[in-house]
Parts: sequence; C-alpha cells; structure tokens
Amino acid sequence: MTPSINNVTSSLNTELDALIIGSGVGGLVTGTQLASKGAKVLVLERYLTPGGSGSSFRREGYTFDVGASMVFGLGKKGYTNLLTRALNDIGEECSTISDPVQLEYHLPDQFRLEVNYQYKDFIACLSNLFPHESKGISQFYNTCWQIFRALDAIPLLSLEDPNYLAKVFLRNPLACLTLARWLPVNVGDVARQYITDERLLKFIDMECYCWSVMPADLTPIINAGMVFSDRHAGGINYPSGGVGTIAEKLATGLQRYGGAIRYKSRVSEIIIKDEKAIGVRLSNNEEIYARVVISNATRWNTFGTLLNKSYIPKTEKTWSKRYKPSPSFVSLHLGVRAEAIPLNTHCHHLLLESWNEMEAEQGTIFVSIPTLLDPSLAPTGRHIIHAFTPSMITGWENLYSSAYFQAKKTSADRLIHRLESIFPGLNKGITNLEIGTPRSHRRFLGRQQGTYGPIPAMRLPGLLPMPLNTTEVERLYCVGDSCFPGQGLNAVAFSGFACADRVGADLNLN
Ligand SMILES: Cc1cc2nc3c(=O)[nH]c(=O)nc-3n(C[C@H](O)[C@H](O)[C@H](O)COP(=O)(O)OP(=O)(O)OC[C@H]3O[C@@H](n4cnc5c(N)ncnc54)[C@H](O)[C@@H]3O)c2cc1C
Repeated sequence: MTPSINNVTSSLNTELDALIIGSGVGGLVTGTQLASKGAKVLVLERYLTPGGSGSSFRREGYTFDVGASMVFGLGKKGYTNLLTRALNDIGEECSTISDPVQLEYHLPDQFRLEVNYQYKDFIACLSNLFPHESKGISQFYNTCWQIFRALDAIPLLSLEDPNYLAKVFLRNPLACLTLARWLPVNVGDVARQYITDERLLKFIDMECYCWSVMPADLTPIINAGMVFSDRHAGGINYPSGGVGTIAEKLATGLQRYGGAIRYKSRVSEIIIKDEKAIGVRLSNNEEIYARVVISNATRWNTFGTLLNKSYIPKTEKTWSKRYKPSPSFVSLHLGVRAEAIPLNTHCHHLLLESWNEMEAEQGTIFVSIPTLLDPSLAPTGRHIIHAFTPSMITGWENLYSSAYFQAKKTSADRLIHRLESIFPGLNKGITNLEIGTPRSHRRFLGRQQGTYGPIPAMRLPGLLPMPLNTTEVERLYCVGDSCFPGQGLNAVAFSGFACADRVGADLNLN
C-alpha cells in the first residue's frame, strides 16, 4: 500500500499534483476525476489527438475509429455506465445511438446467431440451436447476471482504498461477497459446470474471445459477467460523431476543470529521486515535476522503457511471467459504396470458418460498420467497414518497403475475400482502403508490439492476480488496460476511477 504523501515536502516545490503519461481513455478518466477533486493535472500525450486506441481519425470525408467501436458503459442507469459517469462528472455528455444487436456471429458449419439487446430473444435463439442444453444455457448466463447485478449495485472505485471498501461493504455486503466469490474464477469453469455440448462450449469460447482474445478457460468470469449482461442492460451505444468523441469530450472537460493536456509530448523517462517518482523527462529533454506520476502507457512500456532498469520492482518481474502481450491486429479501414452492404445488416460481425483457427494468426475477423448507426461518418452514399484480425508483430518485423507493402496487400486481399461471404461483391464496392499492421499499432499508439493488452501466460485464478493502480515505486501509479480489470473502454474507465480514488486518498483530496 502506498503511504499518504500529502505531507511529503518536495524540494522541487512543484505546482502540479499529477502528471499523466498518455491521454488514452484510462488516462483521461483519471485526469478528469482528479481535476474534479481540485487536483492540478497535466496530461502528456505523444500523439496529436487524445484517445489512443479509443480515438478516431479523419480521411477523405470519412471518420474512422482506430480501434474500439462496440461501446459499453454509455448506458443511463446503474453504476457500471462508467463512461457516462466520467463525462457527466465534468459537465459533458455524448449523444449516442443504441445498437439493437450487439453482434452477429458467422461461425463454422453455418452457425449463425444474433446477440439481440433483448436478453430473452438471445436466450431463445441460442436454446433453439441447442435445445438439449437450454437449462444449462440459462444457468450459465444467469450466473453472469448475478455478477453484473452485484457490480451494478455499488459505486466502482479503488480496491486499494480501505475507506471506500469499508463504506461499500457496509452499504451492500451481499454485492461485495458475490464479487469476492467470483474474483478468482474463470468462465470455462462455470460454463462446464452447466454445459456439456462441445460445440456450445466452443461458442462460449468465442463469446469470450471476441473481447478478451482468450478462450473461456483463461477469461475471468467477472469481466464476462459484465459483458454478457450489460449488452442486455445498459446496452451497446455508439457515440454520435465517432468513438473519438468520448476522449475529445473528456479532454475538453479536463481543461474546464483547470487541467491541461499537451500533445506531441512524448515522455522518454520517469524521473526517480530517493526511490520516488518525482516527474518525467520528455524526448526534447524538458523535465516536468509533480507530486505523483501516473502512467497510461502499457506496463511493458512503463517498466521496460520509461523506468530505468535498476528501479524495476520484483512485482513487475512476477507480473511479466504471469501475463504476456496479446497479439496486435491487421486492420482494414474501408470506404465502400452503400450498395456493398446488404439491407438489414447489423453493425458488428464476427467471422470464423474453422474452430481450430479461432486463436490462429489472422484467424477470427471482427467487423464493424458504424455508418449503419451514424451515417454522418462517411460521405453520402458510402459506408465504413472496419475489419480487423489478430496478428503478431513478429511476422511483420524486418520487412522493408516493397516486402512490407506486399505483405499488407496479401493480408488485405485475403481478408476482403473472406468478408465476401458476408458481403457478396464487397471487393468491387471498395472506394477507399487503409491497411494497418501491428507495426502501425505500435507506431501510432505507442504500445509495445502493438499489443491489444495483457493476456495470461498460464492459467490464472480469474482477475485476482491483475495489478491495481499503485506500484512498488512510491508515487508512481499505472492506469489503463494493463491494470485491473483489463481491456475495453469501460474497463479502462473503471481503472481510471479507481486510480483517481487511490491517488485522491494519497493526496488527501477525497
Ligand atoms: C482494433 C481494436 C479494437 C477494439 N475494439 C474495442 C471495442 O469494440 N470495444 C471496447 O470497449 N474496446 C475495444 N478495444 C480496446 C480498447 O480500445 C482499449 O482497451 C482501450 O482504449 C485502452 O485504453 P488505455 O487508456 O488503456 O490505453 P491507450 O488507448 O493505449 O492510450 C494510451 C495513450 O498513451 C499515449 N502514450 C503512450 N506512451 C506515451 C509516452 N511515452 N508519452 C506520452 N504519451 C504516451 C498513447 O499515445 C495513447 O494515446 C479495441 C482495441 C483495438 C486495438
């Protein structure tokens, strides 16, 4: 536990309370929460715009989302709508378009399924496909609801803040005990308790893989409880104007509350003095000091690059044995003629032709067509297709100019060919094509190996080993998808609330 640092007098007499490295949604939620508590906050962002993997970019009349586009956490009720809450806390809100179907699965052997917002419809369709498992299906998803209801019943702050834990336990002991019970459990264990059909278990694997990039045995049930239930509760809501609007509004609110954000400011080193983080050095050698430093970079970047090796704590070495970087992605950002999208198509799709390929290099394809929800993202008569598939950076390293270009083209052609099974004639309808590789993700997002985030390197007890926000280095905190509870915009918002709560306690701001 980090000791209170309120009384530590800095010989540098700094004006800033918190320096945040990175303006991803995790960093921005931390920054805005701290600013709203009265802290003086500066966010340093290496890129030109805020949002990291949750940003958008504009090209030739199109607004493309860099990564995320299936957005949880923008609902109106409960406590799990953390993006809505983060925005409201600083006087901002996003207008949204609700998505009636979270996802349409296109799986091997003609296995088609829509995940409807209406829970009953989803369960009825799945039970129709597996009538002999209908009881097990209900029991499995009911367990997820139990977890979601517990999460949604309590304010979600820092598990490292004893005051919060005491208050929340007194207020709702049952919810706390429910969450504690499921914390060390993975989805596979629960699924096999109720379901025996191998094909259905493969589907549960895919239900997990499509957001955790892990099969059910390695996916914590707490996260599944959130995803599998909230899609039928708060729902999937697309922010009008593109996903990047969320980060842009957080950045606006941050400034309204006296915080500041500097772009094109790459942090090259976290400065340590007397074994405490006291500031950062930028790539232009400028030094900035603050009472605390919060890193929104991945853990591999934070402890592998930004911190001098002699300060790397033992706990981080243990962490890097337990977790490894997930693959990055090959991404296609397509502008297509409207006719290329059949009538009544849904926004999100997942395509896999062979179960053995689920985790394979460029196996599963994720598809998003956000213009079906917000046509203003593309010129009239056009749609956007964002298709991406997991890919390791190793296959892309050491490819220079024409070889790299050719590898990109080969990947893109293969993806487009496969997508024609959902969108016949797609190839002919393409008017714009941007191809991103793991190298693009590394370059533009500053993420080691372009990774989507940490995944277990071995079977772990659910979410239990996932690190929280404090680190073994005094006054250095981490936030974002390398922290509890992991990847996803709403998950990193949770991490941001928790980080601000813990830092707020340490700075006596709560
Ligand atoms: C292709 C793809 C699809 C996805 N789809 C979804 C989805 O549908 N739904 C969903 O909820 N989630 C999705 N995600 C995941 C989600 O986008 C991420 O988990 C989340 O945005 C991560 O936020 P973060 O704050 O942890 O970090 P990041 O978004 O990585 O932000 C970190 C920021 O820090 C900056 N930075 C890094 N190092 C430095 C430095 N040294 N100095 C200054 N700045 C620095 C970076 O430039 C970046 O802006 C997707 C991700 C990808 C890549």
